[in-house]
Amino acid sequence: MNRHSPSFAPQRPVPGGGPRPYRVLDAAGLVEVLAALPDVRARLGGKPEDWRARDVADGNLNAVYLIDGPAGGVCAKQGLPYVRVAKDTWPLDANRTRFEAAYAQRVAPFVDRLAPAIHHFDPDLLLIVMEKLEPHVILRKGLIAGRRYPRVAADVAEYVAQASVNTSDLAQPFETRAADLALFSQNLALQRISTDLIFLDPYAASDRNRVSPPLEPWAAALRRDVEVKSAVAQLRLAYLTKAQSLLHGDLHSGSIMVTPEETKVIDGEFAWVGPSGFDVGNFLAHLVVAWFAKPRQPGPAEAVAPGRAALEQDIVDFWRIFSRRFLEIAAEATPKGDGLPESHFGDAIGAARRAELIAAYLDDIRRDAIGFLAAKVIRRVVGFAQVADFLVIGDVEQRALAQARSLAFARSLLVEPERYRDVAALAAALPKFDRAGLDPEAVP
Ligand code: ADP
Ligand code: MG
Repeated sequence: MNRHSPSFAPQRPVPGGGPRPYRVLDAAGLVEVLAALPDVRARLGGKPEDWRARDVADGNLNAVYLIDGPAGGVCAKQGLPYVRVAKDTWPLDANRTRFEAAYAQRVAPFVDRLAPAIHHFDPDLLLIVMEKLEPHVILRKGLIAGRRYPRVAADVAEYVAQASVNTSDLAQPFETRAADLALFSQNLALQRISTDLIFLDPYAASDRNRVSPPLEPWAAALRRDVEVKSAVAQLRLAYLTKAQSLLHGDLHSGSIMVTPEETKVIDGEFAWVGPSGFDVGNFLAHLVVAWFAKPRQPGPAEAVAPGRAALEQDIVDFWRIFSRRFLEIAAEATPKGDGLPESHFGDAIGAARRAELIAAYLDDIRRDAIGFLAAKVIRRVVGFAQVADFLVIGDVEQRALAQARSLAFARSLLVEPERYRDVAALAAALPKFDRAGLDPEAVP
C-alpha cells in the first residue's frame, strides 16, 4: 500500500460500533487481526502460526508489539482507553490514535525517510501497523548508555524544518491550514494532558507532581516565582493561540529511534497546530536534560566530559542546521503560501525583503523555542512524567542535585532571555549552572 494513500482522518467520535468493534488486543488477538490484512501477511510471510509477537511498550500510554514472520516484521501500536502506566486510575480517550495516524499521513510527504512508513490504520481497533524499527533504539536509552549518534541533530533539524515550513502559511494556502486546524484542534484529550503537565502543574500544587524531598525547596520556589509563572503564561498562551504549523507535540528523546546511520521520529499522537518553536524547544530540552544528568549517571567517569561535549555540539548543530534548512525550504515554498505571496514580493526588491521577513519569522521561532525548552526541562523535573535520564541516578541527593542545576538553567532562560540571543550562547552557558545547588536562593 502506498503510505500516503489511506485517509486516516478521525471519523467517529468514540471507539466501537463498527463492523469489528473496538477491543484491547493481546498478542494472539493481534496476530489474528494482522492475518486478515493481505498486505501485512505478505510482509511477514509464512503462516500466522509461524509469527512471533513481542510486547515492547515502554512509553506511557499505548500498547506496542513487534511481530516477526519468516519474511519480515512490522510494528503494531494500539491506542488504549486508559493511560497504560496508570490503567486503573487514568481513563484516556483511545481516539488519540486517530490523530497519530492523521499526523503521520500529513507530514509523510515532507519528512519521508525520517519517520516509519505506515502500512495500515484500522480506525475501529485504533491500530496502526507500521515499519518495524530494529535494531533502532530510543535515543534517550542510547544517550544514557553513552553512545553517540552523529546523524541525529541534522536529521531532527531536517524533520522539524520541513514540518514547520510546509504546514505553515509560508507554504500553504489558508484553506489547507484551516483543514489542519479543524482536524487537530479536536485532539482534546492529549492537549489537556500537555496543557496540564507542561504548563500548569509544575507551578502549582498537584497530586500528579513527583518531587523528591531534597528538591522540595526548588519546587516550592517555582510555585512562588511570579517572574517564572508570567514567562510560562506567555508560553502557554502562545501554545494555545499561535497556530503557526502542525506540531509533533511530543518530540523528546523518547520519541526518536536511532541507529548510528538512521533517525526515525515516532509517536505523533500529541499533534497540534501551534507555535513552531515548540518542537524545536522540546528536542533541545532533552539534550539539556541529558547534559545535566550525565555526570551522575552510572558509567565511566572519563566518558562524562566527551559525552557532554557531544551534547553541546548537538545543541549547536541542531539549531544551525534547523535555521539553515528552514530558510532554504521557506525560500522555495513561500510563493505557494498565502503568507508572503509572490504578488507582493515577486520582484528583486521584494525578494530581498521577503528574505528579511522569513529571517524575522525564524528569529521569533528561536525566542519561542528557548522558552519552551525551559518549560520542558522544568516539567521533567518537578512534574508527572519524569525521565530515565535522571531516574537512572540511584542516589536521591545526587539526582536532585543534577535536577536542581537543570532547573536553575531553565529559570535563567525564562527570566533573563536577553542573555541567550542565540542557541550557541545557551550551550556555552550550561557549565555555569553546574555551580547551582539544592538551595534555590543560591544560584550563580
Ligand atoms: P507511547 O505513545 O505509549 O509513548 P511509543 O510510540 O513511544 O508509545 O512506543 C512505545 C515503544 O515502542 C517505543 O519506546 C519503542 O521502544 C517501541 N516502538 C514504537 N514504535 C516502534 C517501531 N516502529 N518499531 C520498533 N519499535 C517501536
Ligand atoms: Mg506517546
